[in-house]
Amino acid sequence: MSRTIIVAGIPGVGKTTVLQELENVAREKNIPLKIVNFGNVMNELFKKRGKTVHRDHMRRQDLELQAKVQEQAAREIGKTGGKSALVVDTHMFVRTKDGIWPGTPRRVLEELDPGLIILIEADPEDIARRRNADRTRERDSKTVDEARSDLEWSRYMASANAVLAGAPIQIVLNPDGHQRRAAEDLLALIRKRTLQ
Ligand code: AMP
Ligand code: MG
Repeated sequence: MSRTIIVAGIPGVGKTTVLQELENVAREKNIPLKIVNFGNVMNELFKKRGKTVHRDHMRRQDLELQAKVQEQAAREIGKTGGKSALVVDTHMFVRTKDGIWPGTPRRVLEELDPGLIILIEADPEDIARRRNADRTRERDSKTVDEARSDLEWSRYMASANAVLAGAPIQIVLNPDGHQRRAAEDLLALIRKRTLQ
């Protein structure tokens, strides 16, 4: 059984918040867990190539370059040592200037070899509100309809991923103010899948 779990969620769904909470819950329960943020790894790799870019500008780079860095990031993450469950915080798709682009195309999936794909979702109205309130990030789409469409795309991509990886999909809801509950749900799913 693979110890890697992909956790994906569209921008504004509260993925970072829930994963921070997951770290706290796992620590309190003494459950070893490693969380890697795919965007951070890519950002470091961009820097190493002499291209320092804001994390919200990576998706505006040349697609060939993004694809190279994406694959390199996957290889690096795939080599992560240790026996604990490895949570990869990433996206099912990225909106690039060339179109909707898979966050985990075949070669990336092969490197990560996930045993489970978890989608974090929330109400489209909550997502739109969070996107508009977050001044620390540059969000491309901010309406409720755009949030709804992003949620749909995330599921389409997850289904393609599940077929390629032969991995099941779980959905965890993150309603306003309930990130602790969402983190507990996540941990239960991760434990169930990585203890098999
Ligand atoms: P995040 O902080 O999770 O919203 O991610 C920041 C940025 O990292 C995204 O907007 C993408 O440019 C990039 N990123 C994260 N995961 C992937 C991935 N799997 N493939 C390509 N780019 C990614
Ligand atoms: Mg985030």
